[in-house]
Amino acid sequence: MSLHIPFDNTYAALPGAFYTRLNPTPVAKSDRLAWNTALAHELGIEGADDTVFAGTTVPEGAAPLAQLYAGHQFGSYNPQLGDGRAILLGEVIDRHGQRRDIQLKGSGPTPYSRMGDGRAWLGPVLREYVVSEAMHALGIPTTRALAAVATGEPVYREQGALPGAVLTRVASSHLRVGTFQIFAHRGHIDELRTLTDYAITRHHPDVGGPMGLLKAVCAAQSELVAAWMSVGFIHGVMNTDNCTISGETIDYGPCAFMDAYHEGRVFSSIDQMGRYAFGNQPRIAVWNMAQLATALIQLFEDKERAVEDATAIVHAMPGQLQAEWLKRFAAKVGLSDPTPEDQTLIEDLLALMQTDGADFTNTFGTLHTDHARDQFTDRDAFDAWAKRWKTRAPDTDLMQRSNPQIIPRNHRIEAMIEAAVAGDMAPFERLMAALATPYELPAGYDDLRRPPTQDEIVPATFCG
Ligand code: AMP
Ligand code: MG
Ligand code: MG
Repeated sequence: MSLHIPFDNTYAALPGAFYTRLNPTPVAKSDRLAWNTALAHELGIEGADDTVFAGTTVPEGAAPLAQLYAGHQFGSYNPQLGDGRAILLGEVIDRHGQRRDIQLKGSGPTPYSRMGDGRAWLGPVLREYVVSEAMHALGIPTTRALAAVATGEPVYREQGALPGAVLTRVASSHLRVGTFQIFAHRGHIDELRTLTDYAITRHHPDVGGPMGLLKAVCAAQSELVAAWMSVGFIHGVMNTDNCTISGETIDYGPCAFMDAYHEGRVFSSIDQMGRYAFGNQPRIAVWNMAQLATALIQLFEDKERAVEDATAIVHAMPGQLQAEWLKRFAAKVGLSDPTPEDQTLIEDLLALMQTDGADFTNTFGTLHTDHARDQFTDRDAFDAWAKRWKTRAPDTDLMQRSNPQIIPRNHRIEAMIEAAVAGDMAPFERLMAALATPYELPAGYDDLRRPPTQDEIVPATFCG
């Protein structure tokens, strides 16, 4: 049956200042690597045509375009970024009535490509596919992966010629902090107002105006980053162009899940200063919201008043984040109604884990058993902690619901990619199967719980 995507496009109806219309660049082949049947169904997509997901055929009803945005990269403002290797095909209304973007990533050059080739290779495409779908299964807001297709064309990176691929990404929208920044920074207030209205209608229809939008995005980002922290996720490149208005995780470039716990853990090879280290993520989220506030202030006549209002909203965010963090971590240790002393209790456990290099996932994942102490070299210290903790009568069911048994460990992802490059998709399929139900690992996947041995550690990630 030929492919049918029930497009209903709104972004393409915005003024041309927001994007450049263009088609994806056709490629040699369209060999399907992965297809998300459940998501396709949710989106109302019927039939199949892999040439669409390689970018070679433009499907009926699509209005392909590259979106314009700017952003702070590692704290420095870049006045123009935009989709340099992505094309928005259009939007659909899903079976729950939610509007979703369908975007191709790695689909060829655009006017915003700057020095890049507009392409992606199979490694980052499959990494994003696995990690974004794992994130969804963990219950954390995220863009989704609909398809991965190999293009049959080489992509040249530092390592040499690599197999090219295209990812189809689905998102509640691709509106970023950087989308607001570009118009605010240029003094294009009409466009900024149009964008703000569009974002409110699409994501936060009840907020009333720009300050309400700011508040809603601060809340969504607080929940998101607390959720990342609770599973040991390090995004790796929390630039403002990678910070969504929807509150979904976006841009799985140099991201990774921690094995041994350390607050200062960094994977990204380009994050030399550790700006986006694990423990810095809440502070960076607040910093990003300050940039959104700075943009939105431009909409107001009375700037002094707007600065005051926006400052109050952004200053409330660390408290929100802290509350979300405590709720998440308290649940991980089985406490549904945490007190301020519980905060200390949790921090003490994390300090012990850091000293001993205890595995983050396996420590929390075994707390409801007698085996958590095995994660520690200083077992007396852990036992002393556990004695204090037990007096709080932790809830075993809550712990099991709040602690995944499995996360996509970096060394497993790298091994999966290596196999896929050699034409073997079995490790990909196996990872996907195990990660689909992370709170209840099915039998036969126990090996995937194991942290890397010294020889297996893959310490760095790359943007791809
Ligand atoms: P990122 O670091 O993935 O958020 O990307 C930052 C900017 O670089 C965005 O404007 C991307 O579209 C662009 N970009 C990343 N990779 C490429 C590439 N291979 N070709 C062209 N543009 C790229
Ligand atoms: Mg990006
Ligand atoms: Mg990226």
